[in-house]
Amino acid sequence: MQLPNGLTALVDYHVHTARCGHAVGAMEAYVEKAIEAGLKELGFSDHLYLYWLPEGDRDPELGMAEWELDFYVEDVERCRARYATDVTIRLSTEADFIPGHEQTLERVLARYDWDYVLGSVHFVDGWGLDQSRYLDGYERWDVNALYARYFDLMGQAAETRFFDTMGHIDLVKKFGHRPTLDQAENHRTLAERFARAGVCVEVNTAGLRKPVAETYPHPDLLRACHQAGVPVTFGSDAHAPEQVALDFATAARLMRAAGYADYLAYRGRNRSPHPLPPD
Ligand SMILES: [Zn+2]
Ligand SMILES: [Zn+2]
Repeated sequence: MQLPNGLTALVDYHVHTARCGHAVGAMEAYVEKAIEAGLKELGFSDHLYLYWLPEGDRDPELGMAEWELDFYVEDVERCRARYATDVTIRLSTEADFIPGHEQTLERVLARYDWDYVLGSVHFVDGWGLDQSRYLDGYERWDVNALYARYFDLMGQAAETRFFDTMGHIDLVKKFGHRPTLDQAENHRTLAERFARAGVCVEVNTAGLRKPVAETYPHPDLLRACHQAGVPVTFGSDAHAPEQVALDFATAARLMRAAGYADYLAYRGRNRSPHPLPPD
């Protein structure tokens, strides 16, 4: 089976595994779904362990345990060898940016030969803003101030230069909290920070499955990224095998509508552009 509209030979660079504690299915099932969808590359980018917290405080439902990381990398390499003739497997991790813990993160990331590192912000001042069990946190924020803070954290994350590509860059909208102020200036500022830092952003289709019911980022923010010269790639944020490459036709259409003609693929932290398929 192939993706609609001849959308084959794309990449899915945001894929989780059961090791993170909130995804299901064997890694092989994710890979087989990628092959079935006609992807040319699948990048495993599971959540890193919660490196900034003392070991006893790490929630096993939010990321793998520290000791598992070696095994995760081995699993990815095993899949890469097993499926080498059918699809290219890339090694990545979705790493949280937490201000003040840059040195620890740098040390962890240096241990492995990633193809790319996906940088995300899921925590604002220790609050896990994408967790439905912590929804009450939104009541403690003015929504406009929260958006400004979130975008600033994304900009800071990019400026560490630890990351090649940035994950769900407006995750703050996940539960449908919308700013009341115009975001054009915030979008432009963030896109310019990304451009200066040399990062790529993903068009992440998981938002379509969430209360906000739209991709990350919003089309206006994606357009600002294009105007600033920030490249794009694809991510499903799959937490189950059937979510691999889900809604990539929509993602490709949004990329083209924002002005993009190419998306990026990564190998050994080097990037190469590939043409988006035509409409
Ligand atoms: Zn994420
Ligand atoms: Zn993710």
